[in-house]
Amino acid sequence: MNGELSGRVIAVTGATGGIGRALCLAAAAQGAELLLLARNERKLRALHAELEQVAPGAALMAPLDLEKAVANDYDRIAAAIEQKYGRLDGLVHCAALLGTLTPVEQYDVPTWCRVMHVNLTAAFALTQVLLPALRRSADASVIFTSSGVGRKGRAYWGAYAVSKFAVEGFMQVLADELSGNSNVRVNAVNPGKVRTAMRRQAYPSENLLTLPLPETVLDPFLMLLGPRGTGITGQSLESQSQVASPST
Ligand code: NDP
Repeated sequence: MNGELSGRVIAVTGATGGIGRALCLAAAAQGAELLLLARNERKLRALHAELEQVAPGAALMAPLDLEKAVANDYDRIAAAIEQKYGRLDGLVHCAALLGTLTPVEQYDVPTWCRVMHVNLTAAFALTQVLLPALRRSADASVIFTSSGVGRKGRAYWGAYAVSKFAVEGFMQVLADELSGNSNVRVNAVNPGKVRTAMRRQAYPSENLLTLPLPETVLDPFLMLLGPRGTGITGQSLESQSQVASPST
C-alpha cells in the first residue's frame, strides 16, 4: 500500500455491497477517510467495525436509502460533510438496483420507476447536493459505476440497461459542465462481471466461483480517486479489458 489516497475524503454509495465494500476497504488501506452511505444499518455497522480494524477512526456511517430519501436526507449528508471535513474529494456511486430481466412489453412500470430512481435520479440528487463540497476540493473525483449493458443495449435488461446508459450520459454532461471551471473530474467505470449478489441475481445458474472477486476490479476506481487520475474527465473506463461473457 502506497497511501495514494492519503488525506482524501471519499463518499461511497452502496458501501455495503460487493464492489462498494471492497472499494471502501481498499481506499481506507490507501489512507482515505470514508463516508459510508448505505441503506441497511446492520450491514453498515458491520462494515464500519471492519474498517476500524484497517484504519481506526477513518470512516463515518451515513444511513441513506436511495429509494426513499427526500431532500432533507440529502441536505443532512451535505451538512455532515461540511461540518466534519469542509470539502469532499471523492464521490463513488456504487449503489444500484437490477430490477427484473423482462421483455419491454411485460416490464412492470413501478419496477421500472424504482430502478430509474435508485440508479439515476438519486445519483443525480446526491451529486447535486454534494457539488459545493466537491468544488472546495483541490482535486475531486466523481465516479459512476456503469455496466456493459449501459454501453450496448441487450434484450430483457430493461430499466437497468437504460439507467446505466443514462448514467453514462449524465457523467458526460456533468464532466463537460465542470471542465475548465472547477477541480472536479467526472468519469464512469464498468467493472465487468464480478462475483457479487447482483451478478448472482442476474445469472442464477452461473457458477459464481469462476468470476473475479470485487477486490480485483478496483484499480480504475482507485486510480480515478487519487493523483493518478489527474486530468482525466468525461471518460468511460473498463476494469476488465477482455470480458469473456456479458457483464451485469
Ligand atoms: P451488490 O448487489 O453487491 O451491490 C449493490 C448495492 O446497491 C448494495 O450495497 C445495495 O444495498 C445498494 N442499493 C440497492 N438499492 C439501494 C437503495 N434503495 N438505497 C441504497 N443502496 C441501495 O452488487 P455490485 O457490488 O455488483 O454492484 C455495484 C455496482 O456495480 C452497481 O452499480 C452495479 O450496477 C455495478 N455492476 C456490477 C457488475 C457485476 O457483475 N457485479 C457488472 C457491471 C456493473 P444493500 O447492501 O443494502 O443490499
